[in-house]
Amino acid sequence: MDAIVKNFPQTTPDANRPSQKEAEDAVRTLLRWAGDDPSREGLLDTPARVAKAYRELFAGYEMEAEEVLGRTFEEVAGYDDMVLVKEIPFFSHCEHHMVPIIGKAHVAYMPDGKVLGLSKIARVVEIYGRRLQTQETMTAQIARSIDETLAPRGVAVMIEAEHMCMAMRGVQKQGSTTLTTTFTGTFKTEPADQARFISMVRSR
Ligand SMILES: [Zn+2]
Repeated sequence: MDAIVKNFPQTTPDANRPSQKEAEDAVRTLLRWAGDDPSREGLLDTPARVAKAYRELFAGYEMEAEEVLGRTFEEVAGYDDMVLVKEIPFFSHCEHHMVPIIGKAHVAYMPDGKVLGLSKIARVVEIYGRRLQTQETMTAQIARSIDETLAPRGVAVMIEAEHMCMAMRGVQKQGSTTLTTTFTGTFKTEPADQARFISMVRSR
């Protein structure tokens, strides 16, 4: 898990970032490469729109999950059982083809006296989703960020997603879902905790 996460750039882009004009020119090049004419009326504003959309779709590079999670947590007395946030919808893009990945994340942790605001978990999924990804890396990154900031007794992350690069090109397997999991702490060492996480995710 560590090797995967470390190999993935975590930092925000630096001063080497191209200008808006360069980004728009690149889109014009791709339009010509696809066989269209960027100077026709319907495409005149497309490069600017694509550049703007990229800023939004890849806004995760501007944010750090650790910042969203914070360093102070709510103390809870008496609640030490699983906290599960399931069916968190997300959009991402595969790093191989820059084509959408559409899925849901299920994230659980076993508190060790402290809990997270529930909306923060969804925000973390969003931050990692809005980057170029592999599903395996994204699953590990979500687990690691919660594990390292909150230091709970365990974290479980399951992602179910459809990869448009598989549905729209190549093998064209439509509707197939890829499932990935990462378990830390008690979810890794206690089969009963892991089984309970999976059955809670599966219960509708
Ligand atoms: Zn792909």
